Amino acid sequence: VADVFGRAKRSRVMAAIRSVGNRTTERALAAAFRRLGLKGWRRHVSLPGKPDFVFLKARLAVFVDGCFWHGCPKHGHWPKTNRRYWRRKLRRNAERDRAMTRELVRRGWRVVRVWEHDVKRMPAVCAAKVAKALFRDKLSGSRASRSSSPVSVQREAASPRD
Ligand SMILES: [Zn+2]
Repeated sequence: VADVFGRAKRSRVMAAIRSVGNRTTERALAAAFRRLGLKGWRRHVSLPGKPDFVFLKARLAVFVDGCFWHGCPKHGHWPKTNRRYWRRKLRRNAERDRAMTRELVRRGWRVVRVWEHDVKRMPAVCAAKVAKALFRDKLSGSRASRSSSPVSVQREAASPRD
């Protein structure tokens, strides 16, 4: 990202880019949910970290993490200009992701995070991962006893972020 903008404008431009990219990926995942027959998800539920999808009954929060903003190990990179700015910003984002996940888990939510690149390449697999989390919730019958329910943060097995 060449620094042709001042800092304030740059962050406005970046926010706009981010939200357009997000919408496309989120739509792809929502379509995959529908194809799988997954129901009961909502958007824009006010929870820590603003999950992209929330299954209220199952207390499952789904995040689609953008490769650049969330520091994907495959596609994340630190831009060459304004290194310090970006390094700090992207590090803060990653820390924030972890903190938000912890906070949700603390509140009795389960969290599934999927990478933008996985949603783009294989939306069905991502939707299946969410379905699996929902299904497991039903099997364990953990809804009634929230305190004893196993909380877990699920990530792709291959993700080096663990
Ligand atoms: Zn990626």
